[in-house]
Amino acid sequence: MEPVIGLEIHVQLKTRTKLFCSCSAEYFAAPPNTLTCPVCLGLPGALPVLNKEAVELALRVALALNAQVQEASQFDRKNYFYPDLPKGYQITQRQVPLATGGSFAFKVEGETRTVRIRELHLEEDAGKLVHTESRTLVDFNRCGAPLVEIVTEPEIHSPREAREFLRALRILLRHLRVSTVDMEKGELRCDANASLAVAGRLGTKTEIKNLNSFRAVEHALAAVLEYQREKLASGAKVEQVTFGWDEGKNELILQRTKEEAHDYRYFPDPDLVPLVVSPEWLGEVRAKMPELPWERAARWAKEYGVPEREAEALLAEPVRADFFEEVARQVPNPRAAVGWVLSELWPYWTDEEPPISAQDLALIIRKVEEGVCPRLKAKKILEQVVTGRGSLSALIQEVEGEVLRDERELQALVAEVIAAHPQAVADFRAGKTQALGFLVGQAMKKAQGKADPKRLAQILQALLSGG
Ligand code: ADP
Ligand code: MG
Ligand code: ZN
Repeated sequence: MEPVIGLEIHVQLKTRTKLFCSCSAEYFAAPPNTLTCPVCLGLPGALPVLNKEAVELALRVALALNAQVQEASQFDRKNYFYPDLPKGYQITQRQVPLATGGSFAFKVEGETRTVRIRELHLEEDAGKLVHTESRTLVDFNRCGAPLVEIVTEPEIHSPREAREFLRALRILLRHLRVSTVDMEKGELRCDANASLAVAGRLGTKTEIKNLNSFRAVEHALAAVLEYQREKLASGAKVEQVTFGWDEGKNELILQRTKEEAHDYRYFPDPDLVPLVVSPEWLGEVRAKMPELPWERAARWAKEYGVPEREAEALLAEPVRADFFEEVARQVPNPRAAVGWVLSELWPYWTDEEPPISAQDLALIIRKVEEGVCPRLKAKKILEQVVTGRGSLSALIQEVEGEVLRDERELQALVAEVIAAHPQAVADFRAGKTQALGFLVGQAMKKAQGKADPKRLAQILQALLSGG
């Protein structure tokens, strides 16, 4: 029996206003029921007007997933009754979605997997119920907020894979700048469907609604597959049921059985004309596409020699990717910037914003590369700057004053070291390259740590090969 999983992912688009009205879509910190109007409250006679920005953001997602954009898609009404839905229906796209087909490649334990995308459509969000001890309150601010729903084919094969799919998709969405995809704010929510295939034949799926963390997706899917396994092992049939997930208790909650399945009575929304995406418009959207993370990784490999693993780490957060790029552009050896950003700066980088400007980090790296500032000293300087214990220019001036850079002095010092260690010199000449390290160490000691080891090595090599 092979696990089969398909995901329906809802992503909140980062538009200024809602999908069909001019109310602000930034509802998160707003007092309840302050961002509403007759349109999103569904008052009689109010007419929806489609938000162009939301369409463009959704098109960006469609293009990134290589999906086929429909020239004319349609909005449908999905009818149901629930207290957070004042209109009594949700406007979505069912018959002809914005885009169909497509695929997404991601990594699971170092291996690339590709999952096909069935379709992608625009829809509006519902309001929010707020449960208190004694009663349930409703906040309509979220009503009509723009969502893009991405539906995969049922071809994910483990809960772990589902989690990695979502993780990678979230990174893509952030690079596309279509959503902040803050999962704690519910900006990415997922309905997960799972079944067990026997001899390649798909089984009946069980759905889990509204998962909003990677952990929840993985654990809920594992629980639902276990539930199906037990059913089948006992000789029972799997019925179509829908579960919720209690993240605190790590437990499935039965929401509805097949008998309670909704009939949504979908029909085209008579208030909205078909959504026509002309080739010209699509071309404009394509021209404005940000660089995709995998395109960026490939370019970095070519331009800067950034290895794949490091690129992945840098690309996990677009802000950090941009920061790296800015540093890389300002140093003679961009490959060196990788280590500075990933190893040296990373521990201090805890907020959204970098703890030092790209210019300043690039300056530190350049001073090291130019041999003006020893690497260890530079790490100290970085630490002092990011912890607010010194100004960069003052610290650099200080090392510049301290570091021994007089060529004649350096040459003399190296000559003394050569004279004092004939054995190491002989070893080096015999091809033992470690001997150079030893000699540099001796020279550093003589300079009381105030010279640049790279420069010392160069002088040593020049003197030894010349003599
Ligand atoms: P529904 O009409 O009930 O919403 P869909 O065919 O639209 O069902 O599929 C919804 C989601 O469920 C898709 O992501 C799809 O990949 C997934 N899915 C469909 N059939 C199965 C199955 N047998 N096992 C697992 N997932 C499935
Ligand atoms: Mg469906
Ligand atoms: Zn409104």
